[in-house]
Amino acid sequence: RAKSAGGNRFELADPEVDARTITRHGLTTALPAALARGEFFIEYQPLVHLADGSVSGAEALVRWTHPQHGVLGPDRFIPLAEHTGLIVPLGRWVLEEAVRQAHEWQQRHADAGPLRINVNLSPVQLHHPHLVADTVEVLERVGLEPGALCLEVTESALIGADDDLLKPLRRLAEMGVDIALDDFGTGYSNLANLRRLPVSVLKLDRSFTQGMQRYPVDPVDLKIVEGVVSLAHSLDLSVTVEGVETGAQAEQLRDLGCDTAQGWYYARPGPPERLHTLAMVDATG
Ligand code: C2E
Ligand code: MG
Ligand code: MG
Ligand code: MG
Repeated sequence: RAKSAGGNRFELADPEVDARTITRHGLTTALPAALARGEFFIEYQPLVHLADGSVSGAEALVRWTHPQHGVLGPDRFIPLAEHTGLIVPLGRWVLEEAVRQAHEWQQRHADAGPLRINVNLSPVQLHHPHLVADTVEVLERVGLEPGALCLEVTESALIGADDDLLKPLRRLAEMGVDIALDDFGTGYSNLANLRRLPVSVLKLDRSFTQGMQRYPVDPVDLKIVEGVVSLAHSLDLSVTVEGVETGAQAEQLRDLGCDTAQGWYYARPGPPERLHTLAMVDATG
């Protein structure tokens, strides 16, 4: 900003902007070493069947224990990793780690029903030629059936996607991997467009379901969710809702026909051991 101000060479840069820029730059350059040093870790947030409250699986959410800045959330570093391309090896690491974890859950809780694992996929990974081969390789090496994996792709990544971009997703879907449209409701996708996407799950964004937290709920908000759910079901998509924070919200979303939910009301993202406890509770009633 100081530079673009022109003439006045003595103007100081806004220290806050400066600090942010330095951090951004610092974080970006620290990323590759962070991967090599094992500074990333994954938290798992349970997904719950709305009908009976049982755990259906979990979403893998990556975090970075930065040596100076402490634990950083993905919003702080995923965009940087996408910019530099590090998201490809980082994403592969997340996939392998999460798939291993899901396999371990399945081994330990065979009776709790098949616990599934959701992994976020960056648009950059979607463009990478090895996506399908890498995914197949990890599933086979670990021994997890493809049907236990769900890859989440944001709505915005698929807006206007041409066939070349959809091809790897189609291949994965044909193998039995579920593809979820993440953050649905934040983009501008044409609902009719859903038909040509190889997705089997619609994840309603938190912003979309936030209206359910108000009381009384705005009847128009209800109508919108109801409409989206019925459209999704008519296209054979299952509906997951994100950001469920209250019991009232959960009840309402269940009544509206949503299938699965995720949110602080059930559990915050946490260490993988917590899933053992939650799945146990279900299995024993
Ligand atoms: P997302 O995939 O939409 O994940 C859901 C986000 O909502 C997570 O934030 C989760 O902690 C948060 N959340 C869950 N329940 C609630 C709730 O009840 N209330 C509120 N206020 N928030 C809730 P998080 O962990 O910060 O992740 C942010 C985003 O970062 C994710 O959004 C996803 O797009 C991205 N991300 C996370 N892990 C990965 C990864 O391994 N690879 C890629 N490419 N992106 C990732
Ligand atoms: Mg997600
Ligand atoms: Mg989401
Ligand atoms: Mg989201």
